[in-house]
Amino acid sequence: MSNTASEKPLDEDVAELAMSLRGDIVSPDDESYDETRSVWNGLVDTHPSLIVQCDGAADVAKGMTFATEHGIPYSVRGGAHNQSGSSMVEDGIVLDVSRIDHVRVSPDEQVAQVGAGCRARDALIEAQHYGLAMPTGSAGDVGIPGSTLGGAIGWMRRKHGLGIDALRSVDVVTPDGDLVTASESENEDLFWAVRGGGGNFGVVTNFEFELYEVPPIVAGLGIFYPGDDAEAVFENYREAAADAPDEVTTIALNSHVPGLPPMPEELVGEDAVAVLGCYIGDDPEEGMAALQPFRELADDPLLDMSEPMPYLMLHQLGTMMFPEGRNYCHRSCFVDDLSEDVIDAIIEHTDEAVSHLSGIGVWHMGGAVSDVDSDATAYPHRDAEYMITVEANWDEGDDDANIEWTRAGDDLFRTLGGYGAYGGFTGVSERDGEDAAERVYGENFERLAEIKARYDESNDLDKNVNVAPADD
Ligand SMILES: Cc1cc2nc3c(=O)[nH]c(=O)nc-3n(C[C@H](O)[C@H](O)[C@H](O)COP(=O)(O)OP(=O)(O)OC[C@H]3O[C@@H](n4cnc5c(N)ncnc54)[C@H](O)[C@@H]3O)c2cc1C
Repeated sequence: MSNTASEKPLDEDVAELAMSLRGDIVSPDDESYDETRSVWNGLVDTHPSLIVQCDGAADVAKGMTFATEHGIPYSVRGGAHNQSGSSMVEDGIVLDVSRIDHVRVSPDEQVAQVGAGCRARDALIEAQHYGLAMPTGSAGDVGIPGSTLGGAIGWMRRKHGLGIDALRSVDVVTPDGDLVTASESENEDLFWAVRGGGGNFGVVTNFEFELYEVPPIVAGLGIFYPGDDAEAVFENYREAAADAPDEVTTIALNSHVPGLPPMPEELVGEDAVAVLGCYIGDDPEEGMAALQPFRELADDPLLDMSEPMPYLMLHQLGTMMFPEGRNYCHRSCFVDDLSEDVIDAIIEHTDEAVSHLSGIGVWHMGGAVSDVDSDATAYPHRDAEYMITVEANWDEGDDDANIEWTRAGDDLFRTLGGYGAYGGFTGVSERDGEDAAERVYGENFERLAEIKARYDESNDLDKNVNVAPADD
């Protein structure tokens, strides 16, 4: 890096920045550099010039202003869970907000203030102590900021909607370095945009969530059917999902039995369809009855672990199934019908996976997600019945072949009516001619581009599913 802001050596400006921060600066010479730049996806290996570990909004503003004045690209790191590694920037400055990790729950008001450094589990552990929860991603280690700004699709989506539907306000450091609050009554356009528009508009330091009553023990669904029964399982899943009340949220994953406790060793690695989910309601018995149809999708399940279980455990399972450091490339699209062709494609494409750890997920959407209009927030895919995720997971083997498998799967589902994409699952890179932003933001893209032009005209915040600012 050279100093484009003044005649001084850049090191002197960096030293001045360091003095002005509550937090710290990590540079390539520091012992903690490799740990600080590492992200969830083992495939990503990015070398930033500086990492600013922010302890508050002022640090974010200072880091941002420093980067802008010196013409240095910057990225924003929340939970570093995004598979694309967009929280890191090669030869640039990382604004790391992971230390802003407060969670303040007001049980009487059913509201929580959640710092941008939190992961889903941090926020849930605090809220669940009071029998409350906000909608988060379904794996406990998913970062609150990246997931919430994209939507946050989790285990209570059909009952209470997406994470963005529970948002009351956000505190945002805009690219000018200003600190603003956005809500339904303040900076409304920004509030609309951050609910689904990703990290395009500023750095969020605090999320104010409405909390819902969710007992710490919920009726839980965890059943593995033999891979040989996959066709019948998905056909019956479609029927069970269509009849399910909004309290029931499920995912069906065509993959294998993972090597996790308490899976019996002899089943580990067997081809299997895992059907996972829960019932969000007070009465676990009523909940187990509502989940029963999902336990009868085929005659002889390999393993049925369904029972009342901690709501947090469902999230822990997500973390265990997708451990840190494994290689990931996940793509997604939405479908309105789980047609015979889509079911065949799920089965055949899983068979062609390069890695045995890979799979294809079917996320039942609808319910409260669809109760919100498609243009009420920036997240547009409100009416979709299912999200399909093509999930390449591998510890060893050819990276390109695994990535290519997700691309081929993505293409396949799009020939069968698949459309759009979820911002958290757009693969690790865009292909020539592919427009991830168009897929993710759909009909809301134009309004997002106009708001982007107002808040980030020079597109400094471009390490994301990027919304290019609209021309005047
Ligand atoms: C195994 C796996 C499981 C997942 N499961 C789910 C799921 O169940 N539901 C779901 O909704 N998503 C899920 N995701 C996707 C997840 O939502 C995204 O990866 C999300 O970006 C993670 O958030 P993060 O804070 O860790 O992001 P990071 O990797 O830290 O950052 C990613 C991007 O988010 C933006 N960003 C991060 N922090 C801020 C901030 N404070 N202010 C502004 N912008 C910011 C930036 O643009 C940044 O480039 C999953 C991903 C994986 C890999």
